[in-house]
Amino acid sequence: MELANRVKALTPSSTLAITAKANALKAEGHDVIGLGAGEPDFNTPDHIIEAAYSSMKEGHTKYTASGGMLRLKEAIVKKFQRDQQLQYTPQEIVVGTGAKQSLYTLFQVLLNEGDEVIIPTPYWVSYPEQVKLAGGVPRYVEGKEENGFKITPEQLSAAITEKTKAVIINSPSNPTGALYAKEELQQLGDICLQHNVLIVSDEIYEKLVYDGAQHVSIAQLSPALKEQTIIINGVSKSHSMTGWRIGYAAGKSEIIKAMTNLDSHSTSNPATPSQYAAIAAYEGTQEPVDMMRQAFGERLEKVYKELVTIPGFTCVKPQGAFYLFPNVTEAVALTGFASVDEWVAALLEEEKVALVPGSGFGSPQNVRLSYATSLETLQEALKRIRRFMDQKM
Ligand code: PLP
Repeated sequence: MELANRVKALTPSSTLAITAKANALKAEGHDVIGLGAGEPDFNTPDHIIEAAYSSMKEGHTKYTASGGMLRLKEAIVKKFQRDQQLQYTPQEIVVGTGAKQSLYTLFQVLLNEGDEVIIPTPYWVSYPEQVKLAGGVPRYVEGKEENGFKITPEQLSAAITEKTKAVIINSPSNPTGALYAKEELQQLGDICLQHNVLIVSDEIYEKLVYDGAQHVSIAQLSPALKEQTIIINGVSKSHSMTGWRIGYAAGKSEIIKAMTNLDSHSTSNPATPSQYAAIAAYEGTQEPVDMMRQAFGERLEKVYKELVTIPGFTCVKPQGAFYLFPNVTEAVALTGFASVDEWVAALLEEEKVALVPGSGFGSPQNVRLSYATSLETLQEALKRIRRFMDQKM
């Protein structure tokens, strides 16, 4: 059967091939170390699980309003106020089944055929596909490694055309861990205001910043920038709740209303027990969030120090998220492979370490390693990578 053109044009996830191969090796009994994970390795805190359980026992097992329960929206409003001093009303919040779905719906309601969205590279794999699925055209702007993988105001200005509808800012970034400073955001924001370009600020890694760094939302910088911005956030990464599927968008009520409308015909509502869990996540103790941040921060310090001593590896030190994105051009050259993808495949085959090639993130000279796994596992992985290099050089 002939499939729709829109799915024929989808780029398959670059992580799939490597994950499939890693799983096949595992099934054969090999001791594979997967550093591809995009989720915290901690379980969801107990009080959140308990809240979901109680809600179900109390009979909250039915549909809720599309776009999420008012009670949850109020908890999110309070969270914005508490953590970022941002004032939203519940009418300016729409809750979706994960930040990914919130982004998907956002592009669906924003874009007409041919509208352009500026996507800084390296990017999270789903941005280009979601933009294309909505009929939009991704316009890539290179966040240069020498600029900490961040785009400059000059680059942004040069990329704007009369078709530009939005720009995505993902800080801290997946895959690079780059964090934009307040001044940098101000400059980018001024340009967006000047050209009336909407800012999609994906802040899913907001809570995961290290070494005294501060997360700033572009919406915090002025009332005009708040008006120009749709914030995307959720509990997946902050509260280790990837499987609960709760994310949200906050911004202008006219956009939020359109998103709610669209969701009412697709997902209806995010899972009801998950919504109760998210209320507990935001209204209960934030201690587990701090504990996880601290654990990730400690791992980052240790792993980063060791990673940059592996021959042929250079790495911009991330300030947030839980990924390292080393440049392995030199490592690939030293070992005689034709590309990073081939080098990654050989590393998996021979040393049973699964990394994600940077090509899927629009940065083919890098690889992504997640440090959302135990320190012992990370150290063993680094030992194997070093051995691989020693043997091949
Ligand atoms: N945005 C970025 C940058 C991500 O890395 C992810 C998950 O990997 C998401 C959004 C989606 O998160 P969620 O689990 O809430 O859908």
